[in-house]
Amino acid sequence: MSAAFVVPAPPAPAVAVLGTDARFPVRRIFCVGRNYPEHVREMGGDPSREPPIFFTKPADAIVPPGTDVPYPPRTANLHHEIELVVAIGRGGAGISVELALGHVFGYAVGNDLTRRDLQAQAKKAGAPWDMAKGFDASAPVSAIRSAAEIGHVGRGRIWLAVNGDLRQQADVGDMIWSVPEIIAELSGYCRLAPGDLIFTGTPSGVGPLVAGDVVTGGIDGVGTLEHRVFTA
Ligand code: MN
Repeated sequence: MSAAFVVPAPPAPAVAVLGTDARFPVRRIFCVGRNYPEHVREMGGDPSREPPIFFTKPADAIVPPGTDVPYPPRTANLHHEIELVVAIGRGGAGISVELALGHVFGYAVGNDLTRRDLQAQAKKAGAPWDMAKGFDASAPVSAIRSAAEIGHVGRGRIWLAVNGDLRQQADVGDMIWSVPEIIAELSGYCRLAPGDLIFTGTPSGVGPLVAGDVVTGGIDGVGTLEHRVFTA
């Protein structure tokens, strides 16, 4: 018999997988910053190919498909960032670019919600991004599609609209660091394991959300995401 916990055990975050009743358990959420040239420029940076920037969100920041998002506290500038999400199915460390796709279970569409005002303050102060990126309900995702079903995603239109107005549109093939390159680089820092999600960066056109907004987005061949932002 297993030992009891001294406080209630937290629920295990999970995401639906299309075509099955079984769900994808979320272990960690990794994110890549500055991975589309036009977005790097709109943030005031130089899109030359420097090693990818990684940050994380807690696993329970996941917002399952079809769930609305509360406008978070301590910000006046909540931004949307539509992204291709990679779901890791097989773990490993020091994974090579050539073998990287063999570690992918599937793909989803995600919104890397960001408190842009806090991120700007953190950048200026040389301080961590956690409170800008890793807040509650900061990671809405679509249902996952398995690579066995849809293949691997190297290109395809990625887009996001707010209340029906197109705000972000690009091609996944524009990414500075490709999915295999991201997996190879990230697995040099951390041992990846089944259940890891990787948000792979957002194209240009990021902008503010307010309570009442309806966010829709998608990636051709992967799926669509939809959530509302409501007053908490
Ligand atoms: Mn992002």
